[in-house]
Amino acid sequence: MKRWDEEYARFCASTDGHRGSGTMMPALALGLAAEAGEVAGLQNKLMRGRNYSFAEAKEELGDVLWYVTRIADEYGMTLQQLASENRAKLEARKRAGTLHDRLAARRGMVENCDPDRED
Ligand SMILES: [Mg+2]
Repeated sequence: MKRWDEEYARFCASTDGHRGSGTMMPALALGLAAEAGEVAGLQNKLMRGRNYSFAEAKEELGDVLWYVTRIADEYGMTLQQLASENRAKLEARKRAGTLHDRLAARRGMVENCDPDRED
């Protein structure tokens, strides 16, 4: 019996209209960027004084998941591998005490950024 992520990857592949074409990987990468943009667009709605629903967020995150699944599958990777290796990377940073240092450093970079400086 296949794990859920392997079965989902098979399903996603069966719904991919670009599968097997020479433009499949560029189409998948651009589609992922577009769907990630739709997730960001929900925050843009808020900034413009409009609300969005959890249903919209769920739909857009599902679209991102579809593209991540398709790209991973074409590389021969499973979602379980991606999650496991990403978790291991973050746990190593956490153990080393560098996980939040990086965030603090980035915040410092933004806070110290002078928008009028040209160099
Ligand atoms: Mg979408």
